[in-house]
Amino acid sequence: MITASPIARLSPPGANWRQLWRESVTDARELLLMLQLGHLADRLPASDAGFALRVPRGFAARMRPGDPRDPLLLQVLPQLAELDEAEGFTRDAVGDMASRSAQGVLHKYQGRALLIASGSCAINCRYCFRRHFPYGDEMAAAGQWRKALEHVGQDPSISELILSGGDPLSLATGKLEELSRGLAAIPHVTRLRIHTRLPVVLPERVDGAFQDWLASLPLQKVVVLHANHANEFDPAVDDACVRLREAGATALNQSVLLRGINDNADTLEALSERLFAAGVLPYYLHQLDRVQGAAHFEVSDERALDLLESLRHRLPGYLVPKLVREVGGDASKRPL
Ligand SMILES: *Cc1c(COP(=O)(O)O)cnc(C)c1O
Ligand code: SF4
Repeated sequence: MITASPIARLSPPGANWRQLWRESVTDARELLLMLQLGHLADRLPASDAGFALRVPRGFAARMRPGDPRDPLLLQVLPQLAELDEAEGFTRDAVGDMASRSAQGVLHKYQGRALLIASGSCAINCRYCFRRHFPYGDEMAAAGQWRKALEHVGQDPSISELILSGGDPLSLATGKLEELSRGLAAIPHVTRLRIHTRLPVVLPERVDGAFQDWLASLPLQKVVVLHANHANEFDPAVDDACVRLREAGATALNQSVLLRGINDNADTLEALSERLFAAGVLPYYLHQLDRVQGAAHFEVSDERALDLLESLRHRLPGYLVPKLVREVGGDASKRPL
C-alpha cells in the first residue's frame, strides 16, 4: 500500500485535479496574451472548427513566452491552416470512430481488447482524430462497460485489456474502481494497460487515491503516456511518473511525429533522453492519422525514416521508438 511519502510533493496534497481541469485555458486569445503573443490574435481562425482550444494551466506554463513556434503551443493553438482542404485528409481517418466506439470495445488485435473508456481529454490536441468526435463521457456509462466486459469475459484469448479513449484518466477514480471490480470476475485478463496523456498534461491526476487503486490491482500494469516533446516534462510530471512506477506500472510513451514540433533528430533524441530520465521508455512514434484539419502537421514517410535512421545512430536501441502507422484492417500497427 502506498502511504504518504516523506518526499515533498510538488503539487500540494490538496490540489484537486478536477478543479485544475475546470480552470484550463479555453480562450486562444487569453493563451496568446499569457505568452506575450497578443499581437498574433488576429491570425487566429474565425472559427475553431468545432474543436475548442483547451489546455491545462500547468501545461501552458511550460510554453516559452514570446515564442510563436513553441512546440507545446503549436500542439494546441487553432491555426488558419486547419481550414484548408487537403487531398486524402478526411473526417474519418481511422475507420468509423463513431460506430466503433459505440460498441465500447475494439477487438482488432490478438490477445488485446481496447475499451473506449471515456471520450474526454484534459487537452485538445489539434492533430487528433478526436477533433471530429468530441464526444463526452457517455462511453463510461455503466451499461456500456457491462457490454464491453461481457465481450471480454466471453473470449478467453483476451489476456490484456487496454483502456483508451479519449482519456481514461479523465474518469473519476471511483469509475475506474467500478471497472476493475468487473474485471476481477474475468480471470483470463492478466494485464491492464492504460493509454493516457493526463500524467503529462495534468500530472496532479496521479493523486493518492489513483495511486492506491492502481497499486491494489492484482494485474500486471502498463501505462502508455503520450508526450511529443521534451519540454512537456517538468518536475510535476516527473513526480507523476514516479508515482505510476511506485504503484507497480511499467511506463511507456507514444508520440506522434508532427511537422514543426518534433520532426528533427535533435528534438526526438532529446525526447527519448528526457523520457528515460523520467523512468519512461519510448514505445511508438506514430505517423499522423490523416484527419481533416491536420495536414499541416504531416511529415513524409521518407523524412520519417531518415529521422529514425539518425536516432538509431545516436541512441541505444531501447531509446529508439518503433515508427508505425495505423491502417484499418491490419492485424497490428504497421511498421514503416
Ligand atoms: C493500437 C491498438 C492496440 C494496441 O496495439 P499494441 O501494438 O499492442 O500497442 C490494441 N487494439 C487496438 C484496436 C489498437 O488500435
Ligand atoms: S486523445 Fe490524446 S491526442 Fe487526442 S486530444 Fe485526447 S489527449 Fe490529445
